[in-house]
This record gives sequence, C-alpha cells and structure tokens, in this order.
Amino acid sequence: MRLLPAVDMVLKLDQSEELIRMYGYGTVRSAARSVLAQMREEFREISSEETAWVLREETVPRIRREIEKNAESGFVRVLNGTGIILHTGLGRAPYGQKSLHMAETAAAGYTNLEYDLEKGTRGNRCARLEQLLCRITGAEAAFAVNNNAGAVLLALRVVAEGGEAVVSRGELVEIGGGFRIPEVMELSGAKLREVGTTNRTRPSDYEAAVGPETKAVMKVHTSNYRIVGFTESVTVKTLSQLCAEKEIPLLVDLGSGMFIDLKPYGFPQEPTVQETVQDGADIVCFSGDKLLGGPQAGIIVGKKRYVEKIRKHPLSRALRIDKVNAAALEGVLLDYLDCKKDLYEVPVLRMLTMSAETVRERAESLARQLCSPYVRVTVEPCMSRAGGGAMPGVDIPSWSVCIEPENVSAELLGKRLRQMRVPVISVVRDNRVWLDMRTFELDMAGELVCAFRDGTLAGPIETAEEERAQK
Ligand SMILES: *Cc1c(COP(=O)(O)O)cnc(C)c1O
Repeated sequence: MRLLPAVDMVLKLDQSEELIRMYGYGTVRSAARSVLAQMREEFREISSEETAWVLREETVPRIRREIEKNAESGFVRVLNGTGIILHTGLGRAPYGQKSLHMAETAAAGYTNLEYDLEKGTRGNRCARLEQLLCRITGAEAAFAVNNNAGAVLLALRVVAEGGEAVVSRGELVEIGGGFRIPEVMELSGAKLREVGTTNRTRPSDYEAAVGPETKAVMKVHTSNYRIVGFTESVTVKTLSQLCAEKEIPLLVDLGSGMFIDLKPYGFPQEPTVQETVQDGADIVCFSGDKLLGGPQAGIIVGKKRYVEKIRKHPLSRALRIDKVNAAALEGVLLDYLDCKKDLYEVPVLRMLTMSAETVRERAESLARQLCSPYVRVTVEPCMSRAGGGAMPGVDIPSWSVCIEPENVSAELLGKRLRQMRVPVISVVRDNRVWLDMRTFELDMAGELVCAFRDGTLAGPIETAEEERAQK
C-alpha cells in the first residue's frame, strides 16, 4: 500500500493541473483523497513497476470521473458538526431507517398512494396516515399537507374566512423564512382580533373579544422564543371550555409537535399533541420535520367535523403532501407506535436524548484519530441546541472535538472542511474549529480522518485563493 502515491504527489502531476484549473484545488484534493483511498483497497498487493503504471494511467482519470460524478449533484450529504439538531440550512430532521426505506419504495416505482387495493378503485392519499395519527394522538380525525405553514393557513381559511379570529398579542410570532402569524391570518381571509398584552393575556380578555363576528380562537405555541418574568397566558383547557360555550372552534398551532414528553431527559415541559387534543383543542397543527423527527409535512389532527371540512377545501389540493413525504411520514409514525421498544429509531430523538457522557466518548474517539503534526486536538464541553425554532433557550450539555491548526487560520480549515467530498460543517470560534459530536455522524468520518492523517487538510496554504481566504 505504501507504494501508492500520497495525495500531495498526485496533485503535483502535470495532468492534475488542468483539473485544478477547471474545478478548483479543494475539489480536486478531496476527489484525489477519495480515489486513493479506494485504490489502496484495490491494490493491496502490487509491485512497484505496476504502481508507477497505475499512477500514470489510472489515478488522474479516476479523479476526473469522481469529480464529474459529484459535480452533477448539487445536493450532497454533509456532516453536521454545529450541534444544532434541527438545522434548517441542513434540511432539519434526518430520516430514520423506516422512513428512508418507505420513502425509497414510494419513489422508486408505482405505489398505492391513492389506490384502494381491495376495491381496485381510486383511494384516499391520507387514509393510512389518518389511522396512525389517530391511534397515536387520540384525535377523532387527521389530515396531512405539505408543511405546517400550509396547515395553519388552510385550517384558518376553512374555519375563519370572512370573520374574526381571536389571538393573544403574546403569540403573534414570526418564525424563520418570513412566516408571520398576522400575515398568515390576512392570507387566510380571517380578520385578526388581538387580545391581551405582550406579556399577559387572561381568560376575560378572550371573553370580551368574542362577538358575533368571531369565527375561531387561535392559540399559537410560541416555540421559538420565550416570554419570561411577569407573564400570564390562558391554557388550552380553559380556552376550549370558553370556545365550547360560544360554539366556535379552538385552533392550536403547536409549531414543533411532540408525541413524547422529554421531561425525564431533563428538558422543560412542552405540550404534547396528545395533551393538546385531550385538553379539548378542536384543530391542532404541527410540523413533521421539527422535534417529531420526520419528513417535511404539516399535520392536522382534531374533531372530525372540522378535519372533514379541511380535507374537502380546494386549498388542501394546492397544499397536498407528496408521495415520498407521505411514505416517510408513515415510517416515522410507525416508529412512534413501536417506540416502547426503542425511542432511538428516530434520529432526532436519539440526538436529543444522547447523554453528555456518550457524546464525550464519541468526541474522544474521533479526537484520537485526528492526531496530526499540523493540529492541536482537544475535547471540550459545549452546548447543543434543538434548533428549527424549537425549545428556545434550552442548552443541551455536549462535547466537541476542538481543532487548532498551526499553519493556517481556523477559518481556512473550516473552509477546507466544507470543500471535502462529504462537506463537514463546523463552528469556527476562538481561532479553533469545533465539531459537536451530538450531531456529527461518527461512522461517516473515515474520509475526514484520512485527510487529517495525510496532512492535506491542516497543512500549509497551497493556493493564491487560500492565501486570500486566510487574510
Ligand atoms: C415552525 C412553525 C410553523 C411552520 O412550520 P413549517 O413546517 O416550517 O412550515 C408554524 N407555526 C409555528 C409556531 C412554528 O414554530
């Protein structure tokens, strides 16, 4: 194996020069590294003459093919070293095995998405999802659309169009990507009737606001910020009694819906979907890909009379869930139904509840492997976050592998990490590169380890472009 050339040597070949000009140094280095790793496997027993031949004839063309193969796809797998579990920029929740398998089956061929296999006729896209959602949440009926922003828009449109919807001033949230509750209400055709103040809203405020024009009361779970101090808000239970008396529906936007109480794992109380249903909410909307840990989806559960109306509204056709997401959603719901067996089938839950001690062991294991003469590697405590606008202000104690490069700045090392074939997203802080091992997939670290060992990743500055980036 020693007879194979080092990455450095390959990059200095004349034939590599053209590739570097075309694709940039980082890309070529990353591809060279991966090709050489493959070749080491293939040419374990080889004579030196053959090595020379292989080097000349085979390496660079293979690097070119490797680059071209990757250049075709804009979406690539990345490794998340940020410690933000639901990183919206990195696609929020990764699928679990069951979701992955079911999504692949649905995508790869035809599927009984809207086909009743028994009757041989057109079926209902959400029938199976409805069964599972009702079993998990105890709701009478359920429906799923493309995402939660769509679910809230649709539900409001159906129950409150042309009338007023009453909302507390403390719950007029904006979430990422310009989704503001007041604007969504306007889009839905409902008139916003604000009650209370930013920090305090009482039952009497709602009572005074509900009049002949009122078509619904809406409660929004303020999932991405927290109002602390002198505060008061009205519970779902109290609001549902008020709504029942006035014969109007109570719509709850839970944002990041949860089926499991994470208090035993040291997290603050978050209302679960089951509790919200039990406390009498008529319609509950939540996301599929936040703390639930499934695919992008907007899930609606609640009373049959409202869910039926929602299902039949023309807007639900415009917001419908696609077959791959529907299949993946079924997968994660099955994981929850089986969860007494193993909570950890859902990657988001696995990451959220992984003990700091386990994270530390993972960090120590990677740190040992990253040793190289160019870097100082330590294991340091840090804080992970749920992200995705969920569990604001909740710090999750965690551990990072901390890399301090000697020849280059931490910024440049961070940039080189992003240029890898499987890009690594790190946090650059205090002139060090931090990799939070709560969100980092250790079993995909092979290429990273090789790149540190052969010195190319943290080695000296190589190009004028890097020289500029360093400054
Ligand atoms: C995240 C969130 C939404 C939107 O959910 P998406 O699935 O991202 O469309 C709506 N309301 C609240 C309160 C949220 O936190």
